[in-house]
Amino acid sequence: MVSHNLSELDSTDCDYFSLALPSVQALHPYLPGKPIEELQRELGLSNIIKLASNENPLGLSENVVGAIQSMLKEGARYPDGNGYILKKALVDYYAEKKQIFGLNQLTLGNGSNDVLELIARGFIGQSDEVIYSEYAFAVYSIVTQAVGAKAVEVPAKNWGHDLEAFSRAITEQTKVIFLANPNNPTGTAFSKLELVSFMRTVPKKVLVVLDEAYGEYIKDKIFPDGLDLLADYPNLIIVRTFSKAWGLASMRVGYSISNPVIADVLNRVRQPFNVNSFALVAAATVLKDDVYLARGIELNQQGLDQLENGLTELGLSFIPSKGNFLAFKVNAESKPYKKACSGLEVYQLLLKQGVIVRPLANYKMPDFLRVSIGLPVENQRFLDALKHVLDSLTE
Ligand SMILES: *Cc1c(COP(=O)(O)O)cnc(C)c1O
Repeated sequence: MVSHNLSELDSTDCDYFSLALPSVQALHPYLPGKPIEELQRELGLSNIIKLASNENPLGLSENVVGAIQSMLKEGARYPDGNGYILKKALVDYYAEKKQIFGLNQLTLGNGSNDVLELIARGFIGQSDEVIYSEYAFAVYSIVTQAVGAKAVEVPAKNWGHDLEAFSRAITEQTKVIFLANPNNPTGTAFSKLELVSFMRTVPKKVLVVLDEAYGEYIKDKIFPDGLDLLADYPNLIIVRTFSKAWGLASMRVGYSISNPVIADVLNRVRQPFNVNSFALVAAATVLKDDVYLARGIELNQQGLDQLENGLTELGLSFIPSKGNFLAFKVNAESKPYKKACSGLEVYQLLLKQGVIVRPLANYKMPDFLRVSIGLPVENQRFLDALKHVLDSLTE
């Protein structure tokens, strides 16, 4: 048999990279949180904790484990391309809260990131403008640049969305506006009043994507529940996920709720089997596990308090968060630490302690790190490691 060294294909005469859309050549690839196994391989560490991707520290709901096991025997079959069991479960779940919508208003995605991409592919063209905040979820810029549209970044106000400035940024070319509430990576949130005032300024032909990935963690009624605005604003697309409060990040399942015409467009560009059978059954099952959801939300509040107190004791400042994570500044001016250090340096030193957090340099926040709220022991382990690292930076 002749063996071919495929790596030699690199050195051809054609510059394939230059064939890509200019906007794709320019885009910054998504940098995911470092997986535990990768750090194990690199440093030979065991007992690593990962607080880098805002996952649910409770792990899978027990009910989900059982549901997936009973689904295994169907593993050779294609999933239901319409995702009926999950759509029905979602409609029922919200109907119980008096939030009524139909199956035809739902679009399911392989994670809500998939839905964000469907919105871009269904609606955004090269001559369109897309607006999002200065410190926005990286996927908004990726899907915008992937379709060659013009990105318009609105400077943040107190790290959060400046919705009045968003209104002023709208032009004839604006097609889509991405909002996240609470916002990742800053944890900020805008009020219902702010959102409604903003929506009144948005022309009906401009689509507003309200990404509520962390919506379950918000309790205070001054913050909006996007679903309550849907009847008044047909240009609103609510995007939600099972990756955070519902604990299904590995399953990849999210959805949007919109007016039926928008849902029809998104479902046209959707891959026929974008959500697999296990994800469908897992999501439909966990929706009925209100005990799991409530436990996670309570644990999150306790963990936020624990981390805020711990960081304050270390003399570090943070951005108050409405999500399941906290962005904190390693370089507080008032700090007792003598050597200047960047977020990336502290991140690397924490890795050596077996603690994975998220550097925010590629979110234009080089002095910040983002830590996900973990179990109490994990939060403590993080705080201890951080103290150790900062002490080592003190001369
Ligand atoms: C985590 C997150 C999501 C969820 O993405 P999935 O693809 O559903 O896992 C969506 N939006 C924001 C802002 C997030 O932080």
